[in-house]
Amino acid sequence: MKFRLSAKKTVIALLALAMGTAPMAKAYITALAVSPGYVNSGPGVGLGMGTADNQSTEEAGGASLDAYAYQSTGGTAQGAMTISTDIPSGCVDSCSMEVSDPVVADEPMYTYDILVEDITSLQRRYPGRFTARVIGSSADGRSIYELVLGDEKAATHVLIDASIHGREYITSNLCMKQLEYLLCYYDKGCFDGKPLRQWFSEVCLHFIPMVDPDGVSISQFGLDGLKSEELKETVRNAYAADAAAGYTGLDLPTYLQRWKANASGVNLNQNFNAMFGVDIVNAGGPSFSYYPGPYAGSEPETRALTALYDSRIWRAVVNYHAQGQAIYWDIQNNKMREHSRDLSNNLMMLTGYRKAVAGGGGGFKEYVQLCGRPAASVTIEVGLGTCPLPSDQLPAIWAQNKFVPLYTMKWAYDKFVVKGDR
Ligand SMILES: [Zn+2]
Repeated sequence: MKFRLSAKKTVIALLALAMGTAPMAKAYITALAVSPGYVNSGPGVGLGMGTADNQSTEEAGGASLDAYAYQSTGGTAQGAMTISTDIPSGCVDSCSMEVSDPVVADEPMYTYDILVEDITSLQRRYPGRFTARVIGSSADGRSIYELVLGDEKAATHVLIDASIHGREYITSNLCMKQLEYLLCYYDKGCFDGKPLRQWFSEVCLHFIPMVDPDGVSISQFGLDGLKSEELKETVRNAYAADAAAGYTGLDLPTYLQRWKANASGVNLNQNFNAMFGVDIVNAGGPSFSYYPGPYAGSEPETRALTALYDSRIWRAVVNYHAQGQAIYWDIQNNKMREHSRDLSNNLMMLTGYRKAVAGGGGGFKEYVQLCGRPAASVTIEVGLGTCPLPSDQLPAIWAQNKFVPLYTMKWAYDKFVVKGDR
C-alpha cells in the first residue's frame, strides 16, 4: 500500500513537471538544480528511498568510480530543462493522456512471442508510422528487432534499448508501451510546445525492445524456453558449474528464473569491447550471470547492437535495466562525461530515481561512452526487488518513465541542434 501511495504522488509530480503548469513544481526544479543529492531531498518527486549509493542494484559491481565528478558540480549541477506548456493549434496536450484500448498490455510476463505479436498489431493499427527491422538473430534463432519512429534522415538520433539481461524483461514491456504512446499521439499530440509530428521530423527515435530474447525465454520458461538441445545442455552445465563454484545455491527452476545471460551463458552487458573484463566477477565459463564471454563481441546479440551503433552518429542512448530505481551515467575515461551527467540529471528529476556511480566494464553504456563516436548514455534501473520483477510494478514504472523518450529527444535536440554542441 505504501508503494502505491508513493507511485500516485510520483504521477502527480511528474504531470506537474511535464506540463510545467504548477508554479511550485517549477520552483522545485530550480531548487533541485543547485542541490547535490536532490533526488531524495524534497517532497513529491522522490519515492521515499534512502539517499544512497549503498543500496544494491542489478549492475553494481566494482567500487565507486567517480563520485567526485558528480559532487564536484556543487552549485552548478545542471538538469533543469524548461518544458513549455504551450499547446499549438490543432494539438492536444498528450502529456496528461493515456492510450485508450492499447495493443501493448501490462503483461504478467512479457514474452518474445508477445513482442512479435505487438509489433505486428502496432504496424496494423499505425500503418507506415514506424519501421520494424531485424538487426540480428540469437543463438536459438530469435530475431532482435529495431523499431524506428521518425525521420531516419533527421540530424539527431536517440537509441533506447531494453532486456539486454534476460530476467529484466519488464523493461521490454515498458519500451513497447513508450512506443505505443508515441504512435497514438504522433498526429495530434504535442510536447514542449511543439507537435509530436514536428519532433519526429527533427529527432529520430530507435527502440531495441529485447536485446536478449533467448535469455528472456530462459527466465520465463526455463529449459523449455530453448529449442536447441545443445543450448539446453550449455545451460544445464552452467547450473552445475555455478553451483559447484558457489555462484548459486538455488534450485534449478529458481536459478533459471534469475537467468541474466544469453543462451550461451554470456552476460551480454559485459561482452562489449569497452573495458572488457574490468571490475567484474568472472566465472571463467558459461554462467547465469558471471561470464563476459571468451572475448569482446563474441556474441551475436553484442555484434548486432555494436553494428547498429557504429552505423551512424547517435546523440543519446538510454539503456533500460531492472532493478534499483537508479541511474548510472559515468565510467572511467568517459568521453561524454559532461553530457552524460547532464542527461542523467534531467532524467533523475523526471523519474525520481537516485544516481548510481559504480559499474563493471564491457557494458553497452561503456561502449557508447568510450568508442570512437561516443554519445551521452545512461543506464536506468527500473523497479525494486528481485528480478524478474512482478508486473504489478508496471504502473509505477510507467508513471516514472512515460516521458523518458520525449525528454531524451528534447535533451539531444537542445544540446546538439539548438546549442550546436559536437
Ligand atoms: Zn541489467
